[in-house]
Amino acid sequence: MKNILLIVVSLLFINCKQVTNAQAPTAPTTASEVGEIMKFLASDDLAGRDTGSEGLDKAATFIEKEFKESGIQPYFETYRDTFDAKGIATYNVVGFLKGTDEKLANEFVIIGAHFDHIGNGKEVNGDIIANGANDNAAGSTAVISLAKQFAQLKDNKRSILFVLFGAEERGLLGSVHLAKVLKEKKLDLYAMVNFEMIGVPLNDKSYKAYITGFEISNMAEKINEYVGSELVGYLAKAKEFQLFRRSDNYPFYEQFKVPCQTISTFDFTNYDYYHHVDDEVSEMNFEFMAELINDCVPAITKMVNTEAKEIRLK
Ligand SMILES: [Zn+2]
Repeated sequence: MKNILLIVVSLLFINCKQVTNAQAPTAPTTASEVGEIMKFLASDDLAGRDTGSEGLDKAATFIEKEFKESGIQPYFETYRDTFDAKGIATYNVVGFLKGTDEKLANEFVIIGAHFDHIGNGKEVNGDIIANGANDNAAGSTAVISLAKQFAQLKDNKRSILFVLFGAEERGLLGSVHLAKVLKEKKLDLYAMVNFEMIGVPLNDKSYKAYITGFEISNMAEKINEYVGSELVGYLAKAKEFQLFRRSDNYPFYEQFKVPCQTISTFDFTNYDYYHHVDDEVSEMNFEFMAELINDCVPAITKMVNTEAKEIRLK
């Protein structure tokens, strides 16, 4: 049974590949590319990427370089969208990929993740650096990789903002700030997809990742339809702990009242190092991350190209 399935899947894969290759010659990300980005963002050199720290600045500089090299433009005058985090000047990093369709380019999809973390944590065996590999170098890596792929693909009728949020760990301050700024600019936001803690696979689930706010919109349904498999699903724990309100998707939902949701694979049982100094790169599964990131490409491609806004609040 398994082998038959494998053959069918392989055939489908070959078919998809031929179609994609014919349309646009783009390379999906690999485990080793994911590993490279992760090893930098979660290195001791960045000292846990605390708000206002030199480590956060190094992370931002790295992301700006990645954006620039891929052809992602700054959305504001520079890539940095500066704001005040309770007395500390910090920033979001905001990249822009203009839509290719004259009319639909005025509609936006935001792909986001927070790139800050908590700096130091409770000491374990002389280690005090909370590297934040899963939380949220992992989500940041997804945004950087997706930005690169979409910049290559040039297959987005709608415009895309690729955002790395600052000061999430201080209370979603970066997303609160940016959502307000974009609302004041009367941005036509279609939807937002946010990434949090995707470095370790779920156990015993039929889907690859869960989505927060599962029941508020048809986003999960549409994503799975666009991808042709059960990429995202419902996790009861996510609802129990109100994760929908606990990440950077929420301020956008509040301001715009459109589908803004977070994709994650942290389910409270599959990872012991939440806000712990052992949240290190060595615990991450790069193969899985690359697979999940690549699976999101067809979902986002469809999202930014359908004539109508098919993803809606319920
Ligand atoms: Zn986080």
